[in-house]
Amino acid sequence: MKIYISGKYFERSEAKVSVFDHGFLYGDGVFEGMRAYGGKVFRLRDHIERLWESAKGIALEIPIDADKMAEAIKDALLVNEITDGYIRLIVTRGEGTLGLDHYLCRNPQVIIIADKLALYPSELYEVGLEIVTASTIRINPAMLSPQIKSMNYLNNILAKIEAYKAGCAEVLMLNSRGEVAECSGDNIFIYKRGVLQTPPPEAGILEGITRRVVIEIAVNIGLKVKESPITRHDVFTAEECFLTGSAAELIPVVKLDDRTIGNGKPGEITKKLLTLFKKETAK
Ligand code: PMP
Repeated sequence: MKIYISGKYFERSEAKVSVFDHGFLYGDGVFEGMRAYGGKVFRLRDHIERLWESAKGIALEIPIDADKMAEAIKDALLVNEITDGYIRLIVTRGEGTLGLDHYLCRNPQVIIIADKLALYPSELYEVGLEIVTASTIRINPAMLSPQIKSMNYLNNILAKIEAYKAGCAEVLMLNSRGEVAECSGDNIFIYKRGVLQTPPPEAGILEGITRRVVIEIAVNIGLKVKESPITRHDVFTAEECFLTGSAAELIPVVKLDDRTIGNGKPGEITKKLLTLFKKETAK
């Protein structure tokens, strides 16, 4: 594996950043997780746009322009001979001092790791996920916007620890109003009486790119789509539920907190949307 760091490639064991990098010291940096299908990065421009927005949110200037970034991502795939895989793109604040002063960090580092996929086990797509609600509340957008895909994922990690304790692969996070926000690394959708519903950005979520694609597909096939607040009760009483994310794609959820959702099997709308999503990624 060859890892791109600010214009050069390094073998995995040689790919290093300074311990004074504020990405390491403070989680000060931003990232993206993308998928490549058949040698093409899915929704590359959307990921680049979100990375730039995240960077703007933390007053970080990305040292190369968007076209160069796109080229570097494609090149990292070629160098690693990966046609179908996962790409992690990271921009750290760069090396500074032990203080918080971001302006002393003059060399933000761009890191690209192209790897094989780390997916949920395939049988979970057949039988669906069982998830639990975390007691860890999703960070309040008034404190730190969840729209910033930052290198500090502790809020999500604390929730994920609860998932593993409960024997689940994912976990539902509520916002400070007690509404459903999202999962630790995925967005959530429910389907009931002809309406596909997902929490709006104001619920305090990362606006997932897969979420956006699924909304587009749903609208195209004539489903009514609502981006409006949902509660746990709405999930319990939904006919179908699924999660979306670049790594997960679209995965059915059949239980929340031990309550069976719908008939306890991946739903027909979920399966249809997954099939159409796969077609989209193959374009
Ligand atoms: N929410 C969170 C917290 C995430 O980290 C992610 C990405 N793993 C998502 C949602 C899904 O976003 P995307 O579809 O852009 O991968």
